[in-house]
Amino acid sequence: MKQKMTRVAIVGGGVSGICAATQLAKEFMEHPTKDHKLEIVIIDPNPKLGGPLYNTESINAFLAQPFNEINLPSVHKKRSLLKNPEQVTYSDYGNYLRKHLEETCEYLEEKNAPVQIHTEKAKGGATIPYLRAEVRDMHIKDGHAELELSTGKTLKADAVVLATGNPLPENLRDSKGTPLTNYSGYYRCYQEGLKPENLNETDSMMLIGMGASAHTFAASAIRNGYKGNIMLASRRGKSPQCEPPPEKRVTRTYTPRYFTVETLKAMKEENGEVTAEQFWSLFIRETHRAAPLGINRREVADSCFDHFNEMNRIMSVEERTNFATKYGADWNFMINRIPEVHRKILGDLCTEGRIDYREKIVSIDRLDDGNFSIVFDDGKKPPAVIVPKIVNCTGPSVRLADMNPLLHKMQEHGLVTQHPLAGINVDETLHVRDYNGASSKILYALGPPTQGEFFESVSVPAIKQCTMTLVESIMRDHSIGIFSGGGMSDGVAGNRGTGRRGDHGKG
Ligand SMILES: Cc1cc2nc3c(=O)[nH]c(=O)nc-3n(C[C@H](O)[C@H](O)[C@H](O)COP(=O)(O)OP(=O)(O)OC[C@H]3O[C@@H](n4cnc5c(N)ncnc54)[C@H](O)[C@@H]3O)c2cc1C
Repeated sequence: MKQKMTRVAIVGGGVSGICAATQLAKEFMEHPTKDHKLEIVIIDPNPKLGGPLYNTESINAFLAQPFNEINLPSVHKKRSLLKNPEQVTYSDYGNYLRKHLEETCEYLEEKNAPVQIHTEKAKGGATIPYLRAEVRDMHIKDGHAELELSTGKTLKADAVVLATGNPLPENLRDSKGTPLTNYSGYYRCYQEGLKPENLNETDSMMLIGMGASAHTFAASAIRNGYKGNIMLASRRGKSPQCEPPPEKRVTRTYTPRYFTVETLKAMKEENGEVTAEQFWSLFIRETHRAAPLGINRREVADSCFDHFNEMNRIMSVEERTNFATKYGADWNFMINRIPEVHRKILGDLCTEGRIDYREKIVSIDRLDDGNFSIVFDDGKKPPAVIVPKIVNCTGPSVRLADMNPLLHKMQEHGLVTQHPLAGINVDETLHVRDYNGASSKILYALGPPTQGEFFESVSVPAIKQCTMTLVESIMRDHSIGIFSGGGMSDGVAGNRGTGRRGDHGKG
């Protein structure tokens, strides 16, 4: 019998791309398919894989979670993180991601496995586990995708995973509507503002946002030798809690009774809709049940993490939008974590008067002398603060237009469309929807650009969770493993729990 070959191209070699590749390899090895070979090709133009966050030396901050929550699927069962698994820096994590992928490739080659991850020789002779190129454009022809690469070559693939990563934050505008990008002293993302040559250019700066991005930026700036003052400012003044140090971490398990998929489905069946208010009330009801058991809100939220996307999707897009607007920040601030070590750095500087917090921003304007004036309605004096530098730490934009040039091109071809809430329009099993709303069997997406359909899709535990759904879809659509026709087992099931909660870049 002729051997069937399926090629899966993964566009982007960050956490999402590497997680998708290693999970696919693992599933294929655990459920080998007779006369079927799988080739996985990760495509990324960067000299190092891992995505920008885990590749930027100057962001030498700590991840919020301990290693056991952020280690990726493994076919070789090794744990290649060498440092203290309780406190992982972004650079440690980048090194881990690359090592993990290399070890996976070596293992598959050693075993002469029917699944291979593409490797090639880089300049200088080293073997790299990816195709180093940018995907510039993409077309669908005769049931497969054709990817146009920056190398001038075209790659054909049976399935393509769009794992193109974190969009920049949405641009901020002044009170006349002019985008602040027009002005010097305004930085739209943490990497730019953290460059060593930019770091000490002013003796004060304002970070717009009080979430994980802002705390990561502030802690990294200080650890990189920033000498000046920092103000963290936001509309609502809310900030994620601190991850307790390992010795104080309590890992109690709680089984929700009210805030569950079943209850929400029953509500929808009875009333035709679950409103954002009803959704939130159900969560609050759960917290009231949990409180006498000594379980706090955050622990209740953690216990719902694995099913949150499924529960959230029971609401209509309109109600999900309402939820995101009214309660999204509250949910994020419960689920997200600020690493204890960052809080300590910032807490000490707060006492010294170098870090300050303000809320209720009314306007941001550029003055003739080149400074920015930020006006607050928080009752504090003076209402306006003048700073020479602003860093936008409001978290990834939700607009497809702010995402990357490839997605733009694909949008023009009608291959991807804007989700009504945020990012790429995917269905509940991560198939990309085209301009007719039809789910593709060739294009899939993973990670932050899928935030519209998958509220939790940004943090590493959330990406791990979504990868389960993605891999099941690819295997089902392309008749791989337990979906190859030889009968089904219960090996792959949608929305299986993997991680708990995570911390991500929402400001
Ligand atoms: C400041 C900040 C702090 C965070 N802290 C935490 C934390 O403590 N814990 C946690 O769990 N999560 C955290 N997160 C979230 C999480 O780490 C990110 O969401 C995650 O890294 C995203 O991974 P990704 O692979 O989807 O995207 P990215 O890491 O952005 O990678 C995308 C890759 O796609 C490539 N690419 C893009 N376009 C193309 C193209 N056309 N062709 C080829 N390649 C392309 C890029 O080169 C890049 O390498 C944080 C996020 C931010 C912003």
